[in-house]
Amino acid sequence: MSTIGFIGLGQMGTPMALNLIKGGHSVKVFDINQDAVQQLVEQGASAATSPADAALDSEFVVTMLPNGTLVKNVILGENGVTTTLDKNALLIDMSTIHPLETDSLIKQMSELGFSMMEAPVGRTSEHAVRGELLIMAGGTKEQVERAKPLFACMGNETVDCGGAGKGIRVKIINNYMSIALNALSAEAATLSEAIGLDWETSMQVMSGTPAGKGHFTTTWPGKVLAGDLSPVFMVDLAHKDLGIALDLANQVNVPMPCGAAAREMYNLTRAAGRGRQDWTAVLEQLRVSSGLAPKVS
Ligand code: NAD
Repeated sequence: MSTIGFIGLGQMGTPMALNLIKGGHSVKVFDINQDAVQQLVEQGASAATSPADAALDSEFVVTMLPNGTLVKNVILGENGVTTTLDKNALLIDMSTIHPLETDSLIKQMSELGFSMMEAPVGRTSEHAVRGELLIMAGGTKEQVERAKPLFACMGNETVDCGGAGKGIRVKIINNYMSIALNALSAEAATLSEAIGLDWETSMQVMSGTPAGKGHFTTTWPGKVLAGDLSPVFMVDLAHKDLGIALDLANQVNVPMPCGAAAREMYNLTRAAGRGRQDWTAVLEQLRVSSGLAPKVS
């Protein structure tokens, strides 16, 4: 069992620290909110008076804070973690911050002789309470191995993302997709209601199609990812159907900014001569338009 300094006891940090205590670890907690510290102390943590105090004699320090500026201040600022951190300890930032901030922090820590990795988390505070977070580990193989007993207390799935800075990058891509999909789904639900459909019925239909399931596991594997753009559903037909939906929305005054942007992607794909290819060609066209080497001819 390990000694752990835990900094940032908000919606996520509080249950995560609690699960480390339940896992038998010795946890010293710090937060600027004294009530949050007190709540953890009542459940078996000891209280730290500063980030430096939390790091003192700890084998691991975990940070779970709202943004990169705070993470940097807590680590490198006055009374920060680095003033007391043991050179053999491992600092794990589990916050969601900008990847360039992560890169810079890991570099600065390395230059000071400290070991740091990032391990942002997926899912919600409800999963944090149940110890069911998805942990996206970015670090060396040795760092990830070393942190695994802690991850096992806080989550039920750890993905080794393949090196320093990769965990936070996967996390940002994951959030980009689910956050953007939330807006696209809101458009579909609103249009559905505005044209008089029963939303339950629409959901029933869409939960069995790529609309509800996403493309990663449905349309892409057998086509574009397999290097095959022979059409099972043509770009031209997808473009036509998207146009009909946008026209309907226009008639009932439902704004469809995501759909309008998506139509430009199909226009781009058709303009590149891919109209009669499979609709998954949108991925290949965007890759090529972004300067990536073509994968499918
Ligand atoms: P939160 O705002 O509930 O908690 C942040 C905590 O940090 C607060 O208790 C605050 O007092 C503390 N804090 C702020 N400045 C501090 C400082 N200088 N020193 C010590 N403590 C300080 O946020 P949260 O929901 O727990 O999120 C934490 C991180 O986890 C964020 O980066 C967030 O993006 C990420 N995240 C959140 C969720 C979610 O569902 N809430 C899911 C995945 C990832």
